[in-house]
Amino acid sequence: MDARQPLVGGNWKMNTGPEEALELARAIIDALDADWAQRCDVCLFPPFPWLSHIGREASDSPVLVGGQDVSDKISGAYTGQVSASMLLNSGCTMTLVGHSERRHGLGESDSLLNAKVRQAIAEGLQVMLCVGEQLAEREAGHSEEVVAQQVAAGLEGVLKEDLSRISLAYEPVWAIGTGRNASPEDAQAMHRRIRADLEKQYDAPSASGVRIVYGGSVKPSNADDIFAQPDVDGGLIGGASLDAEAFLAIIQAAASSSAS
Ligand code: PEP
Repeated sequence: MDARQPLVGGNWKMNTGPEEALELARAIIDALDADWAQRCDVCLFPPFPWLSHIGREASDSPVLVGGQDVSDKISGAYTGQVSASMLLNSGCTMTLVGHSERRHGLGESDSLLNAKVRQAIAEGLQVMLCVGEQLAEREAGHSEEVVAQQVAAGLEGVLKEDLSRISLAYEPVWAIGTGRNASPEDAQAMHRRIRADLEKQYDAPSASGVRIVYGGSVKPSNADDIFAQPDVDGGLIGGASLDAEAFLAIIQAAASSSAS
């Protein structure tokens, strides 16, 4: 199996003011240990209005910056949308697609999310595609099929040679912002299933190179156990990413998992 460098993303959602955002980014950039940064990729996902400032702040550092969403359109009369080229021009190298607060909260469909994925990679961004089952689907025993369908639909038409631009975030919806995380074993089982499906859709070497991160109430206290799982390649962090100290501790846990 190829060694996968862990990836930790900080999804700030619709939080922080301009100065707070800059201070938070600076605190993370300044305190990021060079050794951890070599063993773990770190990407901040601030709100759109702060992207250029944070992009400039991070430009001479190992910290990456990404958009929380991207349009499926190139440009034009799409009020309120942000294109991939705008993200690139703001210093982003990555974007989230399909976070549950958009997929479920705003009703974004699999076909729209697939169009966003394809547009973003066509323009040169890396994509973190978010997938995950809702509580009722889990309780009905349908988690695996729901997630498998979201992955297949989200990646439809994505070529094997573009798979290196994709990472996946498995985020059970019932675990996001609730303080209730999936057990490390449950996360591993789902990540293993996702990778097995990628093997079928592409091939084993390609699937083994795709980073699958876990998201849902990751904190410094549970990060070590979750990241120790062989198919968990880091995390997408919401609440704890707004606290530099907690976020850095989570990065350290991911960096240490790659050393073990
Ligand atoms: C998220 O928003 O992607 C997330 C995982 O949030 P939290 O860490 O707060 O559960």
